[in-house]
Amino acid sequence: MSDPQCPKCQSSMEPGFTVDNTYGAVAQSEWASGEPRYSIWTGMKMLGRTRHSVVTFRCTQCGFLESYAGRR
Ligand SMILES: [Zn+2]
Repeated sequence: MSDPQCPKCQSSMEPGFTVDNTYGAVAQSEWASGEPRYSIWTGMKMLGRTRHSVVTFRCTQCGFLESYAGRR
């Protein structure tokens, strides 16, 4: 995948990822199928969901973010 162009200002966009801060750790955001459902025991219920790591491109000029849920 080549670096995309910003749809707002046509500048170049650099690849990266958004960061989730969890208890004592830092993780890459993921895309998951379906609706979010929480359990008081285990947090988010993730069983049986399709999950993809998310790559986010950031415009170097205006800061616009564009995300892609890639293959794992
Ligand atoms: Zn831009």
